[in-house]
Amino acid sequence: MGQDLKNEDILKGIGISPGIAIGRSYLLHKPNEITYAKKLGSEDIPNELKRLYKAIEGAKDRVLAMKSDLNNKLDKENLKIFDSQYIILSDPIFIEEIISNIKERLVNAEYSVKVTAENWTYKLSKIPNQYLVERATDIRDIALLIIEELLLFGEENKFCLIEPTIIVSEFLTLTDIARLEKEKVLAFVITHGGYTSHAAIVARSLNIPAVSMIKNAHIDIKNRSNIIVDGIRGYCIVEPSKKAVTLYTKKRDYYKNKLEQLEKLNKYDAVSIDDIPIELQANLEIVEELPLIKKYNTGGIGLFRTEYLIDYSQNLPGEKLQTTYYSRVLSADKKLPVTIRTFDVGGDKMIRRIEEYNEANPFLGLRAIRFQLLHPNLLRVQLRSLLKANKYGNLKIMFPMVTTIDEIKSLRKITKEEAEEIKKEGGVIRPYKFGIMVEVPSIIFVADKAAKYVDFFSIGTNDLLQYTLAVDRGNEQVSYLYNNFDPAFVRLLKLFMEKVEGFNKDVSVCGEMAGDSLGFILLLILGVRSFSMVPWKIPIIKKLLSTLKISELKEHYKKIKDIETAGKVEQYLKNEFKENLRSIKEFGFR
Ligand code: PEP
Ligand code: MG
Repeated sequence: MGQDLKNEDILKGIGISPGIAIGRSYLLHKPNEITYAKKLGSEDIPNELKRLYKAIEGAKDRVLAMKSDLNNKLDKENLKIFDSQYIILSDPIFIEEIISNIKERLVNAEYSVKVTAENWTYKLSKIPNQYLVERATDIRDIALLIIEELLLFGEENKFCLIEPTIIVSEFLTLTDIARLEKEKVLAFVITHGGYTSHAAIVARSLNIPAVSMIKNAHIDIKNRSNIIVDGIRGYCIVEPSKKAVTLYTKKRDYYKNKLEQLEKLNKYDAVSIDDIPIELQANLEIVEELPLIKKYNTGGIGLFRTEYLIDYSQNLPGEKLQTTYYSRVLSADKKLPVTIRTFDVGGDKMIRRIEEYNEANPFLGLRAIRFQLLHPNLLRVQLRSLLKANKYGNLKIMFPMVTTIDEIKSLRKITKEEAEEIKKEGGVIRPYKFGIMVEVPSIIFVADKAAKYVDFFSIGTNDLLQYTLAVDRGNEQVSYLYNNFDPAFVRLLKLFMEKVEGFNKDVSVCGEMAGDSLGFILLLILGVRSFSMVPWKIPIIKKLLSTLKISELKEHYKKIKDIETAGKVEQYLKNEFKENLRSIKEFGFR
């Protein structure tokens, strides 16, 4: 930390997105409080009402979807909850009150829904009747549903920041990030959330510095404090001295300059020195990242995570909403492949519906397709939306956490049934690819069999490593074991490449290992030729690639296979590729 900072008030955590920021803090509170009032002009009212009607329709869709999903699981009595929610959504008096609030107070729809719901629940709570108390809960839920619908797409509903700001929050969801005006966010300081949390991945992708695990950050840091965020070392300095500000201004500018140089690297093609083309695609999480596909000259989207859609709502969004969302993703570049992954919920991406199962080991429990196969209607809605959105035939559907061949067969069957159903309804099914993530070791041992049923494989090294070494990817206590260069892991990856050889199936890697320079080289050695990573890493990896002779790489495996420790594998790569790594050293990138 150095002598220069010894008198500063430093809060230590972990860096989850590199970079330096200096500015004032803004304490971001959680969803309900974010429903702010925005003053409208009378000319804005017709548009606001249109937004409201659309959101109410969307909310109705979702209520119906939830009901049909739970049709076989709940008894008739419990299913009535959805009927009464639907009735409230169609209640002309309730809707009229929202409308008149918008018109009379000249406020945005979100705020009007909030105050109307508060008014209704307050009135109902005054009547001593259990039935009405329950209706009050329904009204609160319904208000949230409508607000979520309003927030999901409304560009006009960005959470407005008055000035460039450092956001301080207890935790950060993808929805929070999506709603913030990114140009005005200097950095994030959060109390909870690890390096592989999706918010962290997005912060990195958008080049917004972030630190996490700062104890009580959201309590101890006051609003509008001056702070410095150091996302590289993982700490922030509250009310820094002039000296610290001068020091950090230099550091910040140096880092910014590095990032600007990145775009110059766009001139490199994704080919090796011996002219072998390599596919480099982007991992994305939210639609706002879509412009990065062109900015960094990528070969398409190798992984589009969809959990954002349920992150905020904790529910499954309806078919219309999902179709609109996926259409945006698929049309980002109509000529490039776009791999959209079905909901990977559970484990580190918990949602309320799964929490209800109260599992002792959620990472080994009802995660991803396991949850979706248990609730096939949820899966069907997502598949229908994806297939309908596939207007240009560039869709690749990817299923996470596949463990058995049986699962692949079920997923294929359901996908085909949904495609048939759409055709019966008069819709068109354009070409699409069907693929799975390789994240559970079991599927590697039967990969030659799995190859018969899929068009492509994508190795999710983040989870594959976790399940191979039985090491929780987010647990600091055992993070010393979480190492992509572990000899067992390297051998397992090699085994997979051997098992699928000759089947002519696309194989790519979309875990974080793909965008790590040494990880990238090791994967090339193992025979991988397609990668997907955080977009800004693509130009750097291209430069590295332009120094590598692929035809000579294979030979290295003969040595690597006999190395006994992760540290030594890493050291071997560092020694052997010293010159290549030097070519990208100036980007402070490993
Ligand atoms: C992975 O597991 O490697 C992966 C890409 O998926 P996620 O990080 O979203 O679990
Ligand atoms: Mg995964």
